[in-house]
Amino acid sequence: MPRLSEYQRKRSFDTTPEPQGDSKSTRPELHFVVQKHRARRLHYDLRLQLGDVLKSWAVPKGPSLDPQEKRLALMVEDHPLDYEDFEGVIPEGNYGAGEVLVWDRGSYQAAGARTREQSEKALTKGLAEGHISFILAGKKLKGEFALVHLKRADDPNAWLLIKANDRYVSGKEILEEERSVLSGRNLHEIANSAPAEGRYWASAAGRSN
Ligand code: MN
Repeated sequence: MPRLSEYQRKRSFDTTPEPQGDSKSTRPELHFVVQKHRARRLHYDLRLQLGDVLKSWAVPKGPSLDPQEKRLALMVEDHPLDYEDFEGVIPEGNYGAGEVLVWDRGSYQAAGARTREQSEKALTKGLAEGHISFILAGKKLKGEFALVHLKRADDPNAWLLIKANDRYVSGKEILEEERSVLSGRNLHEIANSAPAEGRYWASAAGRSN
């Protein structure tokens, strides 16, 4: 199956401002992003770059800095690399309609890896086996996390996102830091930011019909 075909099949790029996705990776380090997404239900999307795509999980309760808090993470379709910059409004009628905010972003590596090549090798193997350990260097999320595949027959996409024990463990509710690391806006401000981003594109598409 061609890269990103599921992502592209689900979306109409004349009505959504989301990136279509043909970018290739030229950066030396791997990137991650966590987007806060108010679709039908509020959730957070964790995306980890692997090669030229972002491996993606929807995390209904969002990440936690407490290792006791194991958060359900549902694997979804790979997203294009430029999705890490996407913030705005997906117009009504589109897949995932609602506001998207870049809640955290940064570089990351596989635990124990020293080079990008070692990281990608460990992550590829771990994803196939159902367990990856990785170290985030974001603005809000730092330190080691694991994603563990539950291998449930009734939901093959169910994983758990778990903070590992290190000096970044905290009882602090990190989700209270609600603003975008890109723009400083919260979801409410993004919703009311027309005609910027998503709403602009939605109305532009409407006019051309
Ligand atoms: Mn989402």
